[in-house]
Amino acid sequence: MSNKTKVVLIGFDAWGAYSLPKADMPLAKRMAKNGSSAMNARCIRPSKSSCNWTSMVMGANPDIHGYIDWDTAVPAFETPVDHYGLFPTIFALIKDQKPELKTGYFYEWDLMRLFCPDAAAHKELLPGLSYDSAQAEKIADYIRKEKPDFTFVQFDEPDHCGHKAGHDTAPYYELLSQLDSFAAIIEKGVKDSGDYDDTIFILTSDHGGIEKDHGGDTPMERNIPLIFCGKNIKTDYTIKSMVMIYDIPATIAYIFGVRPPQPWIGRPVTEIFKLGT
Ligand SMILES: [Zn+2]
Repeated sequence: MSNKTKVVLIGFDAWGAYSLPKADMPLAKRMAKNGSSAMNARCIRPSKSSCNWTSMVMGANPDIHGYIDWDTAVPAFETPVDHYGLFPTIFALIKDQKPELKTGYFYEWDLMRLFCPDAAAHKELLPGLSYDSAQAEKIADYIRKEKPDFTFVQFDEPDHCGHKAGHDTAPYYELLSQLDSFAAIIEKGVKDSGDYDDTIFILTSDHGGIEKDHGGDTPMERNIPLIFCGKNIKTDYTIKSMVMIYDIPATIAYIFGVRPPQPWIGRPVTEIFKLGT
C-alpha cells in the first residue's frame, strides 16, 4: 500500500466485544458501519492485560514473546530480542525499515512504557487519560502538529471500572461512552491535520471481562472488538477470518509495507482492503 497511508490504533483496556450493541459509542458504531469489523476477534490466553497489550504490538503470543501474565514487565523466559533490547515490536519494524515514518506512542498505564523501545519518535505517559479530555486533547494536538504516520493510544479503562463496579454494568457503559468521546477528540485531531483521507483507524481492546474479573475463557472475556475504518477499507463489512490480537500489528506492518520478523506469527487481515489497494 501507499506509504502515504497513516494509522491510528486506539485500544480501550477490557472493552469486551459483547458490549458494543448496548453501548452509547457513536464513534465506534460509525466506524464499524463505515469500515470492516469483527466482534469475535480473540485475545490470547490468559485474557489479561500485559500479555495482550504486548501481543498487540509484538505480533506473537506469550509462548513466543514471554509476557505471560497481566503484570509481566520482562519476559518470563529467554526470547528473541532486537537491537532495541525488546522482542521485536511494530515500532521497531517501522523505525528500521521505514525510518522516514514518524510514530507516536501514548499510554495511560505506566507499565506500557516497557513495551515500546526508543523506536517511537514520541512516547508519552498520559495519567488519567480515561477521565480527562485535556489529556486526549494533547494527543490531538500532537497529531495536528507532527502529523505522525502511526499513532498508538492505550487507554487504561474500562478495566478498573470492570473490577470495581463490574463488567456489563451501568458504570462500565458510562465509561465506554466517555472513552468513545475521547476517541472522537483524537479523530478530530486527524481531521484538523489534513490527513483524514489518508488515515486508517483501528479500534480494539486487550481483552474483555465478566462480572468483576477477567482472565478466563468465556466469550465475554476472550472476544474483543476489532474495527478498521478509513482509507481503502471496505465499508459495512464483517470480517470473516479468524482474527487474533497478534494479527493487528501484522496488519499494520502490511499497511506500511514493512516485513515482519521471523518470530512473529500474526497474519495481516487482508480481506478488509478494497480491491486494487
Ligand atoms: Zn487489560
